Amino acid sequence: MSYRKKKLIITVALTGNVPTKEMNPYTPITEKEIAEEAIKCQKAGAAVAHIHVRDEKGEPTCERERYKKVLDLLEERGTNIITQLSTGARGGGNTAEWRGQMLDLNAEMASLSTGSSNFPTQVNANSFDLIKELAEKMYTNNIKPEIEAFDLGMIDNAIYLLRKGVLRAPLQFNLVMHVRGSVSGTPRNLLHMAESIPEGSTFTVSGIGPSQVPMLTMAILLGGHTRTGLEDTVLYDKGILATNVMLIERIKRIAKELGREIATPDEAREILGIIK
Ligand code: MG
Repeated sequence: MSYRKKKLIITVALTGNVPTKEMNPYTPITEKEIAEEAIKCQKAGAAVAHIHVRDEKGEPTCERERYKKVLDLLEERGTNIITQLSTGARGGGNTAEWRGQMLDLNAEMASLSTGSSNFPTQVNANSFDLIKELAEKMYTNNIKPEIEAFDLGMIDNAIYLLRKGVLRAPLQFNLVMHVRGSVSGTPRNLLHMAESIPEGSTFTVSGIGPSQVPMLTMAILLGGHTRTGLEDTVLYDKGILATNVMLIERIKRIAKELGREIATPDEAREILGIIK
């Protein structure tokens, strides 16, 4: 199918683990701010909200109650955006129990790293045992994993876990480009990664910092999907602070020029095979 005929899913990574109000005052930190921001971003065109939560000091955490509060606020407002909870390694603890404590909540997706790598200030540690435990809890609760691949080897690990029955097809990948410590965001690297995922999979691309526009543009051309948001870049351009909505608007403009229509949350559910 021509890439132009595929609708484009925009995921917004609202908060992440790294941004602070000092770095960018538009970063949503409290549960209320996060929920409000997700609603604004849905109106702007995002179909998926990738959610991290923070504790009272603003530090990353996996606390179930905080995730619950965000989901409850979204439900109260009757929003239709797909919720994707982070189970990443920077949430203040590294056991499957801690990182997966929110996976019994009523979310539709969750992130799942399928390998270990370096982050700028810590190790992104994901053992096979931990991946298996998190995946099992996701499937038990009808949550679709988004495989976060920071490098090619993590795609190979996902294929191995698919063969072992730990993961279930069709897989949805997030190819995370240009995190310091992992694969750099070059067209050659992205092409290689996109061509390495199993047939029938779908993929989204994250482009960290300055790789944002080139990597997401390439994702649009490859028939993939796009993730943007302050988690991936706090700057819109050199010296210009971003907002989540500004970043979404830019992707929409590029997609329009390249001939791709934007998917609604329900269209995204269909593309990703999510049964609500
Ligand atoms: Mg994340």
